[in-house]
Amino acid sequence: MSIQTIAVLGAGQMGGGIAQVAAQAGYQVLLADVDLARAEAGKAGIDKFMSKAVAKGKLAEADKQAALERITCVDGIPGLAKADFAIEAATENIELKKKLFRQLDEVLGPDAILATNTSSISITMIGAQTSRPTKVVGMHFMNPVPIMKLVELIRGLPTDDATYEATRALAEKLGKTVITSKDSPGFIVNRILIPLINEACFALQEGLGSAEDIDTGIKLGLNHPMGPLALADLIGLDTCLAIADVLHRELGDDKYRAANVLRMHVAAGWLGRKVGRGFYDYSK
Ligand code: NAD
Repeated sequence: MSIQTIAVLGAGQMGGGIAQVAAQAGYQVLLADVDLARAEAGKAGIDKFMSKAVAKGKLAEADKQAALERITCVDGIPGLAKADFAIEAATENIELKKKLFRQLDEVLGPDAILATNTSSISITMIGAQTSRPTKVVGMHFMNPVPIMKLVELIRGLPTDDATYEATRALAEKLGKTVITSKDSPGFIVNRILIPLINEACFALQEGLGSAEDIDTGIKLGLNHPMGPLALADLIGLDTCLAIADVLHRELGDDKYRAANVLRMHVAAGWLGRKVGRGFYDYSK
């Protein structure tokens, strides 16, 4: 299938990154969020991210401008009708994603592929909301999208070979390396990452050490580029908690229960870098 126009639904940190790499690869991008203003705020974030790359000499100003010109902000899902491939990157919430897929299915042409960037939610279940479950697929990018090389592909039970192959080819055109996971809660990466982050939260709440000690221990002791609490702040603590809750509920094992300190940070609105405060303070 020939893909010309990619719809990105959700213009937060992941949707912004996906829109950027798609535009830089030469695709026309339609970017939507709850309303036009949120989509435009997402595009402003892309501009800022790319301007930093220009300042560092890693990107030409003309290439930045050309990519930005390929991104059109639209007012909600009705504006995405012309796309032949959609990537949903809205908040990690099951009921929300079900609703968005019913709407995408109504608005996009019958041949369009509908992909979701969900971190943990079943692709089969999301696909079952639509009249085209064979054309629904998981396309799980990593954060920050322009920098991280991996895309994890997930086939729902009904996903057909043509959909899988077209999605793999797209991921490769975006410069990514692909792995494939079964449709199981958290897939491969978050099945392993979220228990690590959650265990770091338990270590913090039990007073084993400070956040800095825990993160330095994992960085220097295990040679990870970031500590798990700093990584949780980067991902978003709301997203981490939503994934932990899916793992716990769907896998049915109490070893996946979320640490209270994670739940309380989310309750307080301390969601990490995106709001300036999480396990660390980013306001200064
Ligand atoms: P975010 O909070 O930065 O952005 C979510 C966006 O979704 C917001 O702009 C919000 O306004 C929008 N949204 C909410 N309801 C909507 C609706 N009804 N219609 C359209 N847009 C709506 O979150 P994020 O980190 O970008 O995560 C988005 C998705 O990507 C989630 O499914 C998450 O699990 C997944 N993901 C996140 C990461 C990460 O590291 N943060 C990594 C891989 C995948």
